[in-house]
Amino acid sequence: MTNDNPKTPTTPIDLRSDTVTRPTLGMRQAMMQAAVGDDVFGDDPSVNALEDRVAELAGKESALLFPSGTQSNLVALLTHCQRGDEYIVGQTYHTYKYEGGGGAVLGGIQPQPLPVQADGTLSLDDIAEAIKPDDFHFARTRLLALENTQWGRVMPEGFLSGAADLAHSEGLSVHLDGARVFNAVVASGQPLHHITRHMDTISLCCSKGLGAPMGSLLVGSAEFIQKARRWRKMVGGGMRQSGIIAAAIDYALTHHIERLADDHERAKQLAQGLAQQQGTDAVIVDTNMVYLDVGTAARGDALQAAMQAKGLMVGGGRMVRLVTHLGLDDDAIMHAVECINGYLHH
Ligand SMILES: *Cc1c(COP(=O)(O)O)cnc(C)c1O
Repeated sequence: MTNDNPKTPTTPIDLRSDTVTRPTLGMRQAMMQAAVGDDVFGDDPSVNALEDRVAELAGKESALLFPSGTQSNLVALLTHCQRGDEYIVGQTYHTYKYEGGGGAVLGGIQPQPLPVQADGTLSLDDIAEAIKPDDFHFARTRLLALENTQWGRVMPEGFLSGAADLAHSEGLSVHLDGARVFNAVVASGQPLHHITRHMDTISLCCSKGLGAPMGSLLVGSAEFIQKARRWRKMVGGGMRQSGIIAAAIDYALTHHIERLADDHERAKQLAQGLAQQQGTDAVIVDTNMVYLDVGTAARGDALQAAMQAKGLMVGGGRMVRLVTHLGLDDDAIMHAVECINGYLHH
């Protein structure tokens, strides 16, 4: 079943992720009208225009379109690091935990994961300690990989600049996994180029809150992106008439950034509704993500199954994840609050 109107709730009401968003009618029309060419030849005008637009938004020289954020992050690792190099990363960050260990598997790049603090940041002392001296016993520490937003949390500016300054002073580069960085843009009121100004490279996802069917962009210097283009081809990310996708993303950049504020507002409503019954301590909310602590993983899994039977899709486990997005309206949020509170209260 298609859902062309962003104001129409997804059926069933799906709060598992903002990746479940479907292209709106306007987006589909933009895709249909896209001028296209063979992008591996550099001939797709829609892709070229999109890459220029995103590079400028992020305040960098160049950008490159990828089918997914995982591939964009992987190519960033492969381009920054050689075999035998290492990258410092948070233990719960996507580039370490949720991408199949791609850097290690495909690039011979060793991850150096660090504990993530309660606010999603890394300790600068931990980073400093993890940077290895130039000694043949050690892998060469080459890169610091950060994430913003991290589980919905906007990373503090002081952390991003402090960590980047530290990394740069030690000769490391800095990559930002900005899968949801537009949520940080809207939540903080800061333009993208301001948030990314300390980063050497950034990966941006368009298939999450922005609502495009697929696509991520890697942004950096012209020299870096030229190298990344070779890796992208090698890992199978060179696409042909991808202007169809670029047109969807271009539409999303024009129409779906400011409206992320609606998602943030609905996440707050959802959190408030749940907190009334479950207590404020049980509910965490930031940007478009709500986490509900139900005490045990078994209780979360039971909640998930019971909700699914009512046409409401939510995460499972002890920390039940609920994500707002453009496929949900106020009624969907109210309905979700009623269903979840009703179940947990019985
Ligand atoms: C979704 C996501 C990615 C990339 O995921 P794809 O599904 O491969 O596009 C990267 N980092 C974070 C934090 C994400 O949430």
